[in-house]
Amino acid sequence: MQFSGLELPASLPAASGWKRVTACPACASPARIPQGEIPERYYVFGSDRVSFPNAAIGVHRCGRCGLIYKSPVPEDGLLASVFARHAAGKWDLPHDYEPELRRLRELAGGSELDLLDIGTSDGAWLGACAAGGIRGRRSALDVVRYPGADAQISGEFIHAALDDPGFGWSGEPYDVVTAFDVLEHLHRPDVAFANLRALVRPGGWLWIETGCADSFWPNRFGVHHWWYVRLLEHHVFWSRRSLEHVAGVHGFALERCESTRHKSWRDAGLAEIGAELLKTGVYCAVGRRYAALAQHFGREGNQPWYPFGRDHLRAWLRRC
Ligand SMILES: [Zn+2]
Repeated sequence: MQFSGLELPASLPAASGWKRVTACPACASPARIPQGEIPERYYVFGSDRVSFPNAAIGVHRCGRCGLIYKSPVPEDGLLASVFARHAAGKWDLPHDYEPELRRLRELAGGSELDLLDIGTSDGAWLGACAAGGIRGRRSALDVVRYPGADAQISGEFIHAALDDPGFGWSGEPYDVVTAFDVLEHLHRPDVAFANLRALVRPGGWLWIETGCADSFWPNRFGVHHWWYVRLLEHHVFWSRRSLEHVAGVHGFALERCESTRHKSWRDAGLAEIGAELLKTGVYCAVGRRYAALAQHFGREGNQPWYPFGRDHLRAWLRRC
């Protein structure tokens, strides 16, 4: 669906659009509870401002499965043009994967396992697995083949989005599939989980990390004010309830779910944490005027990122 009034910076192709989402993208139920509208009229991505279409962006909670989703959402063409300008380097933040490695060995009962990582980016996680002595296939699935990832792959590279309706791969399912910071990007969660069912072997594990819509910040300030919802590339927002429901339909049992900080905050330094704490204090004091205040000081920002906020969830699901 095309809207008029789409304003993109001159350097971005204008033949891109937005689509309305009229039913839950995970369970197809049209029943939904409006949560509010995103107050701004544009997204910020890198140095670009991407104007909203001539319609507010609404945030809805599915009346059946509880998934939170936005409407309208950017179509693939618009996303691709923005990503092409900025994506390189955006998602390859350094991270110490030692805690994840310990969990991986616990899950698999040792170091011998076939692993598929979804949203591999530069391959840092697969590299950590190789360095940590994980034996077996180390494979990757991503929309872009980033430089550096190839050296970490000992299995296959699947060139696809997780929610593509069909893609080529070996057909040999994996013991463990990891998807860190992937599930919030899905346009078609139902297709994604159908694909995951094929990719994980029976009895194998799916390890997910994504934002948690049922956490302090969205509950306290409204999910439509949550910084995580106000990102161009995030379309759906999970909670334990919605994950358990949608994954259950596709043959996964939620074995364990815990709240956590985003992995980048687990590595943050004291100065960075101090600066964000200060901003958090200002936000609590001025509320919705925070965005105007930030702009006054030449910054973009509508909600600070509370460094101790556990607004992500980490879940282990077993393929039945
Ligand atoms: Zn639903």
